[in-house]
Amino acid sequence: YVDKGFTNITGDYLKKLKVGEVKSLPIVITEGQSIYEAIVTLFLEDVGTIYVVKDGFLSGVVSRKDLLKTTMGKANLETTPVDVVMTRLSHIIFVEEDSSVYEAIKKIINYQVDSLPVVKKVIVDGKEYLEVVGRFTKTNIAKLFLELAEGK
Ligand code: ADP
Repeated sequence: YVDKGFTNITGDYLKKLKVGEVKSLPIVITEGQSIYEAIVTLFLEDVGTIYVVKDGFLSGVVSRKDLLKTTMGKANLETTPVDVVMTRLSHIIFVEEDSSVYEAIKKIINYQVDSLPVVKKVIVDGKEYLEVVGRFTKTNIAKLFLELAEGK
């Protein structure tokens, strides 16, 4: 139906609100670290997804399911690097700090992922790299709605 007098307050708010205003701190490990170290980090930092960096820039994403999968094979978790199971850069869905929360929520739903790395684009020798500056997760969305409900 079309109601021309209708004002979409939540829509307007989520389109204006920037990811940078609600993002969490990113949890990162370095390419070459072991699957075992990734699992320990997952528990110690109490997160579901870890970002992998190489030379300081984003190179992969490793989630609970990626790590769980490794326990089904015969791989030595202490000697196998996370690189083997991570989702690689070319496939990573990310947002920037000035992306709208609306855009970020749409990506999480459309690509069926739990978290998006928040990145800053950096040019080095004419090549673009992604510096990880945060993470935007389903928990951020839930918190935002709780705050809205409580009128904060
Ligand atoms: P879980 O493994 O806990 O279900 P996800 O649904 O987020 O968590 O991850 C599902 C798959 O998508 C994994 O293989 C993971 O590496 C990948 N993935 C997670 N986040 C992203 C992202 N932002 N961009 C691309 N792939 C991702």
